[in-house]
Amino acid sequence: MRYTKIAIIGAGTAGLSARREVARLCDDYLVIDPGPFGTTCARVGCMPSKVLIQVAHDVHRRHAFEQQGIHGADGVRADGARVMQHVRSLRDRFVRAVLSDFDAWSDKLVEGSARFEEKNVLVVGEERIHAEKIIIATGSSPAIPPPWQAVRHLLLDTDEFFELTELPRSMLVIGAGVIGLELGQALARLGTQVDMISLDKTYGGLSDPALQDYAHEALCGELSIHLSGVDSLSEEDGNIVAILKDGTRLRAERALVSVGRRPNIAGLSLERAGIAEPKELPPFSTTTFRVSGAPVYLAGDVNGSRPLLHEAADEGRIAGFNAVRDEDTCFQRRVGLTVTFSDPNICLVGESHRELGARDAHFVIGAVSYEGQGRAIVRIEERGLLHVYVERDTLRLLGAEMIAPGGEHLAHMLAWAIAAGMTVMDALRMPFYHPVLEEGLRTAFRNALSQLDSDDIASEMMRCADPPVGVRA
Ligand SMILES: Cc1cc2nc3c(=O)[nH]c(=O)nc-3n(C[C@H](O)[C@H](O)[C@H](O)COP(=O)(O)OP(=O)(O)OC[C@H]3O[C@@H](n4cnc5c(N)ncnc54)[C@H](O)[C@@H]3O)c2cc1C
Repeated sequence: MRYTKIAIIGAGTAGLSARREVARLCDDYLVIDPGPFGTTCARVGCMPSKVLIQVAHDVHRRHAFEQQGIHGADGVRADGARVMQHVRSLRDRFVRAVLSDFDAWSDKLVEGSARFEEKNVLVVGEERIHAEKIIIATGSSPAIPPPWQAVRHLLLDTDEFFELTELPRSMLVIGAGVIGLELGQALARLGTQVDMISLDKTYGGLSDPALQDYAHEALCGELSIHLSGVDSLSEEDGNIVAILKDGTRLRAERALVSVGRRPNIAGLSLERAGIAEPKELPPFSTTTFRVSGAPVYLAGDVNGSRPLLHEAADEGRIAGFNAVRDEDTCFQRRVGLTVTFSDPNICLVGESHRELGARDAHFVIGAVSYEGQGRAIVRIEERGLLHVYVERDTLRLLGAEMIAPGGEHLAHMLAWAIAAGMTVMDALRMPFYHPVLEEGLRTAFRNALSQLDSDDIASEMMRCADPPVGVRA
């Protein structure tokens, strides 16, 4: 039996972030992972997908060339094999960056899959490891529904997608969540005939009905989207055929399945540690990440709470901070922020429309359309709608949803404003340059304020006697 103070299961973003926090105070720890190393984000997630999207965006710009007086757009095309080489080449660079710090602690790395034998005891291959505290950071894996296994050879998940050496001529994309929408739109722009299949209009997590409708219209202008869901999948002459619930028949070379991810807990035998029923997640705190009543922490995608890179890093850090100390400390979550790198970007910030409705919040919606917005016109990116939610009584910014050009940046500004506790007037007192996409935010703030009887000069211009923004009188 090998003894250690802290065992970290998983060397992904959460596990590595936990390791860094643990290593500040303690040298007696182990990190267990079977590989491949380099994190989901860098190998098969955030980074390679963004490389593909960037190429797709660049080649798609050719449609604006003629209007701008640039000739030669007809000759611009993507070479699928070269595109995928480029994706893998940058992917390898991101992976190398992750691996570059492994050498400094390679004596702590145990290569293999861990499972519980009993409370505090893990088995990794032939080895048994006793740990006083255990951090589970095993991430999640793409889910493929069991009935579809018969045509598995024609399906791709995101672990496999970036290994394609050519882009298929045609592809079904099953699931239009964040990942399906990003990759589906990118493929379509790169020349693949794409049919996207979804169940509803919650693109990128949008919950505001007006935005869902707007996004549907905007995306349908470019993509073939079916909202009736898959009834069955079968093979025909080496192609995949989907029969949808409304009877529609679709056929393509391959199908990308992006219908969600499941936590990697199946092989952990959590029941042996007495913390969960077989294959179930144990109850855990979302402020300390400790599993109820056990010296175990659950961080990153494995806990399913906020499956995003920056959240996994935060959760790993909190779990590591607590695991290496006698007492747990509660930590606040950052303001929620999600970005779908579709074009236009789809973003959610703070409280969503659905969450506000669920808690019966009293709020007004400040809206701005990016159709006709100055900077969007210049960029030939005149598609977008942004809603910002403002609390009626306090005028505080609560949240926002949008499908908007440059949304990734607008969403950050809003998230920072919400985190700083700003009211809509505080936000309007900030400078806005001209002409920028951020001016759209000002339009939305003004629109909210106009519904609150407060839009006089003092709501935007600070008198000499006023205290600075952030300092309440
Ligand atoms: C296509 C795609 C695009 C994405 N894009 C974005 C994006 O743009 N922005 C964003 O914020 N997020 C994005 N994400 C999500 C983001 O990648 C994840 O939230 C993040 O990588 C989760 O990190 P993690 O540490 O929880 O898991 P991982 O990085 O997956 O690490 C888990 C580790 O645990 C190991 N492991 C599993 N089981 C065991 C076991 N039994 N024993 C030992 N080790 C084990 C695995 O080998 C792995 O190394 C994307 C994801 C995908 C798939």
